[in-house]
Amino acid sequence: VSDREYYMAQQYDSSRGFFIGQPVKSRVTGKWGVPISVPVLHKKSPVSVLFCMVELERVAALHEAVRIKPRGTVSILRTDGVSLSRVPFREDIVGQSLAGTPQFKTHLEGRERGFAVWATTLDGVDRFVSHARLGQYPLIVVVTSAMDAVLAPWRKLVFGLVALAIAASVMGVYLGQRLFMALADKDAAHAAMQRLASTDTLTGLMNRYAFMAAAKREQERARRNGRGLSVLMIDMDHFKAINDTHGHAVGDRVLRSLGRMLTELLRSIDTAGRLGGEEFCVLLPETDLKSAAEVAERLRRECETRPVRIGGLDLTKTLSVGVAELAGAEETATELIHRADLALYRAKKNGRNRVELADAPAPTGFA
Ligand code: GH3
Ligand code: MG
Ligand code: MG
Repeated sequence: VSDREYYMAQQYDSSRGFFIGQPVKSRVTGKWGVPISVPVLHKKSPVSVLFCMVELERVAALHEAVRIKPRGTVSILRTDGVSLSRVPFREDIVGQSLAGTPQFKTHLEGRERGFAVWATTLDGVDRFVSHARLGQYPLIVVVTSAMDAVLAPWRKLVFGLVALAIAASVMGVYLGQRLFMALADKDAAHAAMQRLASTDTLTGLMNRYAFMAAAKREQERARRNGRGLSVLMIDMDHFKAINDTHGHAVGDRVLRSLGRMLTELLRSIDTAGRLGGEEFCVLLPETDLKSAAEVAERLRRECETRPVRIGGLDLTKTLSVGVAELAGAEETATELIHRADLALYRAKKNGRNRVELADAPAPTGFA
């Protein structure tokens, strides 16, 4: 594979990092896939590059479930404009670069997130378009809904109201009010699309991207008000066994129930997110390490003692939790979460179903 793009990208220190390649169609299966590689930075590892292929069919099935029907779309682009995935599926644009299109240049390029209205050149449908960069990944998610679907109720209302206004101009006040409400509807559609881009569809919690943004905000707030901030890094123990024994669908329901448990047991100012797989993270503002450890212990115990009932089955699962408290003014949200992650790793190593506290950050700047 030494001449492959995904391998070459990891050959020089300057280019090493998360790499997403050009979509390719398998000659064997006829299916489209996107190659992804990451460097293994551990010096002693005999493995230098990890590589995987994401089947676009799988991605499309997930997006199909959440897109706004009948004519809304969900697309994933690389930040350089290469189209990776779109539902409804269009084979003719997989792997094509949209970088040259006016829509990409004006609305998407270099912007974290945004909202626009445009006619798609693909099928000529006018659409509301909302996009967001996916955190540290070089990806953009673009969610659209057909303009007439959003505006149909609004148009109907306007035509009705114009007739009314001719009949009695005193109705003007009423008209203004209704128009205002119709416009608020449009805002609601926009808000719904924003929510879609930041929500984990399985649990309804924040997804990784939204969670990391929230973590940054909380870190800044904690730095300003000096009231502390702690995080919990939570990972289910032997979750793979649940999937293997009872199937993926049951696994999904277990994940959902953990999501619900977090929402129930945490305070309203706490924030929970699913970072991926069976890994969850919680932000506890105004909470020191000791109190955060108590919260973690409460979650751990609750999980251990409250089995999830699924189709007549009582499944007991346990959690390992890493706890860290924000240290000083310099520590970033990412560093804080990394320390909690190391503590979680220790909880796994020390036997699982337990809570471990993070070490203080290593001092910097000594000779
Ligand atoms: P450990 O105690 O070390 O955490 O063991 P584990 O089996 O929980 O850990 P590991 O991270 O190896 O396995 C996680 C499994 O979670 C692997 C994958 O099949 C499964 N998984 C990841 N995402 C999902 C999902 O969305 N739904 C379901 N059902 N399973 C998932
Ligand atoms: Mg696990
Ligand atoms: Mg895991």
